[in-house]
Amino acid sequence: MNNTMSVPIFVGDGRLETQHRPIPAVQHDDDVLIAIEACGICGTDLNILAVPPAHKAKLGIVIGHEGVGHVMAVGASVNGLKIGDRVVIAPRLTCGRCEYCRRGLDNQCTNYQTIGTTLDGAFAPWLVAPERALFKIAEHVSRDDAALFEPLSCVVGAFARAPLHAGDRVCIIGAGPMGALFAQHALAQGAAQVLMADVAPYRLDFARDVLGATPVNVKEADLAQTVMNATGIGCDLVIDAVGNQLPTALNLARRGGTVLLFGLRPNDTQQVKQYSITRHDLSVIGAFVGLNPFVQTVQLLESGRIALSKLITHRLPLSELAQGVELMRSGHGMKVLIEM
Ligand SMILES: [Zn+2]
Ligand SMILES: [Zn+2]
Repeated sequence: MNNTMSVPIFVGDGRLETQHRPIPAVQHDDDVLIAIEACGICGTDLNILAVPPAHKAKLGIVIGHEGVGHVMAVGASVNGLKIGDRVVIAPRLTCGRCEYCRRGLDNQCTNYQTIGTTLDGAFAPWLVAPERALFKIAEHVSRDDAALFEPLSCVVGAFARAPLHAGDRVCIIGAGPMGALFAQHALAQGAAQVLMADVAPYRLDFARDVLGATPVNVKEADLAQTVMNATGIGCDLVIDAVGNQLPTALNLARRGGTVLLFGLRPNDTQQVKQYSITRHDLSVIGAFVGLNPFVQTVQLLESGRIALSKLITHRLPLSELAQGVELMRSGHGMKVLIEM
């Protein structure tokens, strides 16, 4: 067997360079060797490859964290997985020792590593990862559904912070892949209505035709007025999947409602009218990646209740990763999957 693989390596300045690398091998007792079947392109990958970068990544690594694959070899101490198991990746490896890990707030670990950002990731035919980063998923879950495990886990984690109730009316600002996952999850939980706000016609058509949501083009319509017309009093839950929409979101929630802040825009600042939060009894909740949402996410995928793979609009070979990134960046694809 040829023991090298040809993989795109992140070399900085938004560039990927195809290089030959040795196929990784099990080295530590808790290592697992995975034959990757497919890996989704994430907003994080777009940010890593932006110029200037909007997300840090180590130079010289393989990026990608939304991978699914089969176990091909295991280290001596691995006992929860065996050769042949299908696995998905929970990419953040927390330290277990910092003040936050000790409080059980793993998602706030101050000393973590991430597969696909600081450690080699899954845009490669082979990946070695520690057992604790891997979750077994049943073979009956399709490859494409399983590839959406990591972004879905963020949504599961966010809804744990801001629960939705059956019959709720929901407005999601941002109809990209994460907004679309929020919409699918909200509808599966029994939301009465899901409105989705965006500026991109492609995404708005997708929201209506594929997701069954009510699209609102905020270039053409006044969002607050549209939400008021649709609900009479505003939405029970408003989700900002963009990262700088708090002032808008506060105007869309009904009194006593909840605003869930999910999108991340580290360099943006907003002015908000604090008065309306107090006067209208609003709950404003931030949710970052989710606190151990992984087991429930696997169970949700295995239940078949959400057909996540509807979001995948393109499937490309590894050699076309850069084109896939461009498809998503230009807003002409919803979710792009790289096949190994
Ligand atoms: Zn992701
Ligand atoms: Zn920690």
